[in-house]
Amino acid sequence: MIQKLTRHQLLYIAMSRKDVQPCEECVPLCCPGWISVPGYFDVRTLKVLGTLRTEGAQECWDEYHPDGTNLWSLEAPIAIDHYPYDRSDVRECVHCTRVFLHYTEYGGYYLDERIRGLDPEFIV
Ligand SMILES: [Zn+2]
Repeated sequence: MIQKLTRHQLLYIAMSRKDVQPCEECVPLCCPGWISVPGYFDVRTLKVLGTLRTEGAQECWDEYHPDGTNLWSLEAPIAIDHYPYDRSDVRECVHCTRVFLHYTEYGGYYLDERIRGLDPEFIV
């Protein structure tokens, strides 16, 4: 059972890791905004710390962008009750403990693993 994280817990994790320098393993994932995980990288090698998903919750597609950002903006707010954060897990690199948000986008014919560095500055 993966632990559901509150905003407070998420903020705590993000704050406690914010000065961690990425290692060679995870540096390709280090982007302030969402990116597709490179095909050669196995996301399962990142350790799950918790999730922002609510078991059995209705799918929500609302995004939160009060300042005119979009999903891909580097400075998009991390709003845990909104898409895609409400379906994200929090994972850490087992080598350097840098933390990331991760979710899987299910398209009609594809799966896209997406990842974003967890920066406390953007948690709203
Ligand atoms: Zn690392």
